[in-house]
Amino acid sequence: MIHNIRWRIALPYIVLVILVLAALAAYLSEFVRGLYIADLQAQLSSEARLAADALAEPLGRGAPPDELAALAKEWARQLEARVTIIASDGRVLGDSHENWALMDNHLMRPEVQQALAQGLGTSTRFSHTVGYDMMYAAVPVVVRGQVAGIARVARPLRQVEIHIARLRQSILLAAAAASVLAGLLALLIAERTVRPIRRLTRDALRLAEGNLDVSILPTTRDEIADLARAFNMMASQLKEKMTALSEEKVRLADVLEHMADGVMIADGEGRVQLINPSAASLLGAASDTVGRPLAQVLRHHRLIELWRESIASGAEMEGTVELYRQNALLRVVVTPFRERGTEGSLIMLQDLTHVRRLETVRRDFISNVSHELRTPLASLKALVETLRDSASDDPQAARRFLDRMDAELDALIQMVRELLDLSRIESGQAPLSFAPTSVEQILLPPVERLRPQAERANLSLSVQFPPDIPAVKADLEAMHQVLMNLLHNAIKFTPPGGEIIVEAQAKGREVVVSVRDTGVGIAPDDLPRIFERFYKADRSRSGGGTGLGLAIAKHIVQAHGGRIWAESEQGKGSTFYFTLAVHDISDNTTLTGR
Ligand code: ADP
Repeated sequence: MIHNIRWRIALPYIVLVILVLAALAAYLSEFVRGLYIADLQAQLSSEARLAADALAEPLGRGAPPDELAALAKEWARQLEARVTIIASDGRVLGDSHENWALMDNHLMRPEVQQALAQGLGTSTRFSHTVGYDMMYAAVPVVVRGQVAGIARVARPLRQVEIHIARLRQSILLAAAAASVLAGLLALLIAERTVRPIRRLTRDALRLAEGNLDVSILPTTRDEIADLARAFNMMASQLKEKMTALSEEKVRLADVLEHMADGVMIADGEGRVQLINPSAASLLGAASDTVGRPLAQVLRHHRLIELWRESIASGAEMEGTVELYRQNALLRVVVTPFRERGTEGSLIMLQDLTHVRRLETVRRDFISNVSHELRTPLASLKALVETLRDSASDDPQAARRFLDRMDAELDALIQMVRELLDLSRIESGQAPLSFAPTSVEQILLPPVERLRPQAERANLSLSVQFPPDIPAVKADLEAMHQVLMNLLHNAIKFTPPGGEIIVEAQAKGREVVVSVRDTGVGIAPDDLPRIFERFYKADRSRSGGGTGLGLAIAKHIVQAHGGRIWAESEQGKGSTFYFTLAVHDISDNTTLTGR
């Protein structure tokens, strides 16, 4: 109860009211008692005076005690008091209540002594005669200048005490009622004071729980209202800051989520605190990596070493790491940080795999081109030297040499043309114009053009496709080049007596074209690589081939949105397939693309 503001405010009030009222009751009852007693004293004095006046006559004539006793009784009845008649020597001559003859000498009674000395005597004391507190008033009876006796009137104080007690009771009742009222009032005031504080506390708790929309309406115009306003200001500022912070966090999380580089943060104990998807995929780590030891997640001694070195030296460490497991090359930067007591490291991972691949492709390409150029150039050089040294004397030999030089030059020109074609297609400089094209238009011209060559090689060449095969969307010239390349290969790699079949079939929204031969076939190891530039599976047979034909075919088919692949069984033959999209009749536009 003491820890409750309501009671802390109300209790002192209640105590104060009770104390004040108790003091007031005590003071009032004493005061009223005094008044009553003074009043009674005055009344008794005047009654005693009256009695003394009336006694002058009987005492003057020496009336007998019986008469005096009867008088005392009569007056007592009228005054409703005890009346005593005392002789000047203290003997009791008559009394309204008692058997006066047995009463002791009253000379030494204080009121009698006082009356004899001052003419009026009063006293309040316990009366042994009647057995309770009495107030006495005595007046001397003067007859012819002599004190002939004393008249005394007395009344019990009981009446006064009853009045006082009744008064005290009423005062106490009033005090109790006032205390209860004051207490209630104090509680009410305290409650009204405490209520906004309680609301403020509740709202502050809600704010602490994370509900940032709390706002208090000030209902009063006092300090508590100021407090409420200050609270609202604090809440709104907090909300602003939290919103800004969470927006920032979302933005940062977005950046981390979508950035190509890997980012990791480890705490001072080397546990992963943050890892973005790129880092997880670069390291081949599981998704529940947060909280796990860094060494477990990095799983590469060089990465762990870099991290340790950076922690030990407190400096940024950088290195390139080859991850054989993922076949990846990573650039790693480890930066240690120490901010507001927290220690940790920021680890950035950059994937250099594609850069390395591009580098390799470029290097391979240059070395391939130089390699391919070197052979024909070397033989040209040899032919020229031979011609200069000796062949001039032999016109026939000279002619043979010149024919061979011509053939070498043709091969060179062919290679350069193919290289140019390939680079034009790859770089998008050879725009393709797609148009609805019949399968017949695509297949027949290349077949007819190469038929003499096939016949010379003693190969049968046939074309098969259903008459109702749908038209496709294609660049006719580019398609002819694809077929020429495939047919050239088929003729080149099929021994005499073999067969080459060109076929086309509709499959769903596609037409699949195939060129099948009964030739030497391709080894399973070579099969996935034959579409690479300069790749020749069988160098002895490929003869003057450049290794570019299939690469060009692949690029053209892919530019059409189709696929190209090969199936082969060594020694039995190969089949090359490619697909083309069926022309959509609703699509009348002529598309242009690479
Ligand atoms: P090339 O100019 O050497 O023919 P290509 O790119 O056209 O170059 O072919 C690459 C390699 O694929 C050839 O050297 C050959 O080894 C293999 N190849 C292509 N077509 C056939 C085929 N029909 N039969 C067997 N091997 C083939």
